[in-house]
Amino acid sequence: MLIDSHCHLDATEFDGEHAAIVKTALDHGIEKIIIPAVNRKSFDDVIKLSETFPNCFYALGFHPMYIDDMKHDDLHTLQHYLNTYQPIAVGEIGLDFFVTKENKTLQEEIFVAQLKLAKDFDLPVIMHVRYAIDDVLKYLRRYSVKGGIAHAFNGSLQQAEAFIDLGFKLGFGGAMTYPRATHIQTLAKILPIESIVLETDAPDIPPSWLGHKAKNSPSELYRIATFFADLRCVGLTSVIEASYKNTLDALPKIV
Ligand SMILES: [Zn+2]
Repeated sequence: MLIDSHCHLDATEFDGEHAAIVKTALDHGIEKIIIPAVNRKSFDDVIKLSETFPNCFYALGFHPMYIDDMKHDDLHTLQHYLNTYQPIAVGEIGLDFFVTKENKTLQEEIFVAQLKLAKDFDLPVIMHVRYAIDDVLKYLRRYSVKGGIAHAFNGSLQQAEAFIDLGFKLGFGGAMTYPRATHIQTLAKILPIESIVLETDAPDIPPSWLGHKAKNSPSELYRIATFFADLRCVGLTSVIEASYKNTLDALPKIV
């Protein structure tokens, strides 16, 4: 049994295909799919998907790449949704200084506000971290949340260990499958298996066998798990069992 710990099933790329995608994923042994919201509009979409497909679970939050579109009362709306619905985490939240650093202060403000909400509601967080790992670690130390997942991890070994010490799991997916991704492959090989969760980030980050421009989907997780098992020279069954348990440890509200 596999869990895709990060999939944007609500993305427009999947419009009209949800039932087929969930079924194909199940046929490939992907038993559960975690769908993090990215903006206000996606809140209702991810909730609806989880109501339609009982093996889909959602997180609610504002992604750092969407914060310029936020309205002044959006954080109150998030608080209201956390009160009213049953998300398994606050996410996808974080910091991204790759595309722009111009809105750094606003990104940090929104990230901190969401960490505080996660703490208030006793929820883990699902995080997007790009060119901002040390900043994210600084805020996680300051506002100790319940843990969660740093998705699509691509930092140093020392930074990985800092996340693990703070109670976080690290997400690995399609990015590690490219021959030039030697750094991510080394991390995937040497980090303790207890700290790793698997993800597709579909429709983004297609694994190497699909090609850069292809649309990724959660059913690819089986082959990603196989790739990961081969990297570590261990059996696929042990990887499937460990990543399943690790995802439940990070997101205990999945049932
Ligand atoms: Zn994402």
